Amino acid sequence: MTQHLPLERVAVLGTGILGTQIAMLAAYTGYAVKVFDPREGAFQSTFEKLRTDLQGKGVTPVIPWGAWDQCAKDVKQLTRMDQTVEDADLVIEAVPENLELKKKVFKELGEKAAPKGILATNSSSMPVSRFEKESGRPEYCLNIHFYFPLQGVNIVDIMGGTGTLPEVMEKGSAWIRSLGFIPLTVNRELLGFCFNRVWRAIKREVLFMWGNGFVDFQDVDRAWMVFTGMKEGPFALMDKVGLDVVWDIEMVYYNDSKDLKDHPPAALKEKIEKGELGVKSGRGFYTYPNPAYLSADFLKASK
Ligand code: NAD
Repeated sequence: MTQHLPLERVAVLGTGILGTQIAMLAAYTGYAVKVFDPREGAFQSTFEKLRTDLQGKGVTPVIPWGAWDQCAKDVKQLTRMDQTVEDADLVIEAVPENLELKKKVFKELGEKAAPKGILATNSSSMPVSRFEKESGRPEYCLNIHFYFPLQGVNIVDIMGGTGTLPEVMEKGSAWIRSLGFIPLTVNRELLGFCFNRVWRAIKREVLFMWGNGFVDFQDVDRAWMVFTGMKEGPFALMDKVGLDVVWDIEMVYYNDSKDLKDHPPAALKEKIEKGELGVKSGRGFYTYPNPAYLSADFLKASK
């Protein structure tokens, strides 16, 4: 059965790790999708990498494997930004996390996008209010923040800027739902949106406990795994994200609040300086490819 879609044409700017997944998902849902990325072959190379990585991890994708090639064909790759956005009902940008770049992109969008086109940012850390005015149409701007990977994490934060129209928020939510994702609506601007902030509260606390020598990180993960039934604890998750990335994110919160309680511990910086970045460097809190938390006796009372 064909579902009724709240809008027709979607444009994605930036086809790195997030933009590619968003474009694929939108095409799979039935939207006419155009993408633009100044890096030649960006969409295709990210698409191949995603497929290899996710298949390697045995992940069950939102888009069935059999539909991946067709979805990629359905995504129209353009070499000009103006042609990508000129008739889009919704533009979502997933360019690198850099304020000046976001400002530049929103200025260009104000000039080139369809007059009533909704302009969304997938930024992880910046409320759209920081660059909405560059577009000249803040009432059409909002944050639509997907989590990585889209596979299995079907939640999306949605948050307006200073003057986002209620119908723009409603259309954004309807679009998210049409993809099979759950919109997490943030009613007033909040750094970190909804779930990021929950996860971050956990990170801040456990980093404080470990970084100041109160507890062993493995005990925190053990407790978490037993209590929640999850297969990994906060420290294992931070290893997956990358400890350098964790540091940068924590510093965004610290720089916003200037509260020392928000500053990540020096012990985390020491690990990063030693090149212990997590899964990607083979060592973080755990050692890879066989981290202790995956061993059969990690949760045994006798250990
Ligand atoms: P990425 O570096 O993988 O991809 C960014 C892409 O944007 C690159 O391919 C780059 O060539 C392209 N680009 C650069 N300038 C451009 C321009 N002017 N127009 C169009 N494309 C341009 O980055 P990513 O990890 O996909 O992150 C993109 C955004 O999504 C960031 O704002 C980030 O905060 C957010 N985000 C990332 C994650 C994550 O886990 N990676 C999760 C949620 C949100």
